[in-house]
Amino acid sequence: MLKVYNTMSRKKEEFKPINENRIKMFVCGPTVYDKSHIGHGRTYIAFDVIARYLKYRGYSLFYLQNITDIDDKIIKRASELGIGPLKLAKEFEELYFLDMELLDVTNVNYYARAMEHLPEIIAQIQTLIEKGYAYETSTGVYFDESRFEDFGKLSNRSIEELNVSRVNPEPTKRNPGDFALWKKKDEEPAWNSPWGPGRPGWHIEDTAISETYFGGQFDIHGGGLDLIFPHHEAEIAQMESATGKKPMVKYWMHTGFLNVSGEKMSKSLGNFITIEELLKEYDPQVFRYFVLSTHYRSPIDFSDDALKQSENSLKRIYKLMDTVEKLLETDIVEESETDEVYHKILKDAKKEFLEAMDNDFNTPIALSTLFNLIRDINKGINQENISKNVFKEIKNLLNEFGSILGLNFSFESSKDDLKDELINILVDVRGKLRQKKDYELSDKIRSRLREVGINLEDK
Ligand code: AMP
Repeated sequence: MLKVYNTMSRKKEEFKPINENRIKMFVCGPTVYDKSHIGHGRTYIAFDVIARYLKYRGYSLFYLQNITDIDDKIIKRASELGIGPLKLAKEFEELYFLDMELLDVTNVNYYARAMEHLPEIIAQIQTLIEKGYAYETSTGVYFDESRFEDFGKLSNRSIEELNVSRVNPEPTKRNPGDFALWKKKDEEPAWNSPWGPGRPGWHIEDTAISETYFGGQFDIHGGGLDLIFPHHEAEIAQMESATGKKPMVKYWMHTGFLNVSGEKMSKSLGNFITIEELLKEYDPQVFRYFVLSTHYRSPIDFSDDALKQSENSLKRIYKLMDTVEKLLETDIVEESETDEVYHKILKDAKKEFLEAMDNDFNTPIALSTLFNLIRDINKGINQENISKNVFKEIKNLLNEFGSILGLNFSFESSKDDLKDELINILVDVRGKLRQKKDYELSDKIRSRLREVGINLEDK
């Protein structure tokens, strides 16, 4: 049985979608004003694995993400660079997609840009005004938090606490904790609305988008821990007030932070490493493994040592996979009397792996199951008592685990294949050079290859 930790109940709950087998999942996407850093990478890899596992479990999943393409930070950066804010957003959105592709984050079904949903945003604000949850002032349209009695239920804060936490509240608001749905603006960039030119608030874009694609209720809403308050709290207030349906979301899921020396990695603190920078030094699979070696709700401390450890762990898996693939090409026995023992080892490993994933997507435990399996198989390889049939099963099971985690365990061997092909090309070129009696260059190729440990012999 799949259990999911729900931030709302602060408990692990049995996972039962609203609509039998179909799951609607929304995860807050990035504000595209800069390159994505590896903290973003952590959150999106975590939800990618959650999506993969839900599909593996046979659910039909629609995974929706918004893109915040208008925001004060975008406008500030664009004016510094002297370009339009939407153009800037588009450029960073493309880089974000590229980063996600490199990290193999491939399960989002649809990315919805906020500014392509302006009519829906305006319509939802109008509904909130009509129902008495929102009001207009000289500076904008605000949500009246005192009208929504459940305000604070996700972050477990009282209205009083929420109000105290606001410094210098906007003077036209009724309550200090009221938040903007529409900000009136005289200067560009501004868009027309029934309340004059302006821009939407941050929280309303998500609920306008999720209502458009999912209606008033859906199964999973995710994001990083920092979004619980005020963002997700505000989303609940908006959606439940606008549609009258409760609860807006069945399972709220939040990822822990990726930290550097105990501090959240963030653009504003300036302690960030972009995904692009990291991938110059490490393979994307190494970073993915590093992320999955900690449970998605726990903080994860970034360090070179931790990445090196992930690299070494991955190498152990690649090495086993490589050995298995090579042994499958030899003429070892098809069956053996030890097969039953290995069938049980593989069956138990799969059961434990899936139990770990069923337990709120516990990837570190799933990975430790995988390493116990590797230990048993390596022992068998040393004792030479594993048959071809069992090796095939081992390969299939490792690939099955890999596809759930988004890791390709045949990776290193495919690199080896590439290496072999490159050597063949060099050998070919060298042969042609020798035919043309260009011994100087052909000897140079041979000595350079020797420097990297490859010995060519002229027959
Ligand atoms: P932003 O573009 O800053 O709104 O962030 C996009 C997503 O990345 C949100 O779900 C954030 O919670 C998440 N995020 C940002 N920084 C980190 C971090 N250091 N660790 C984990 N997730 C993060």
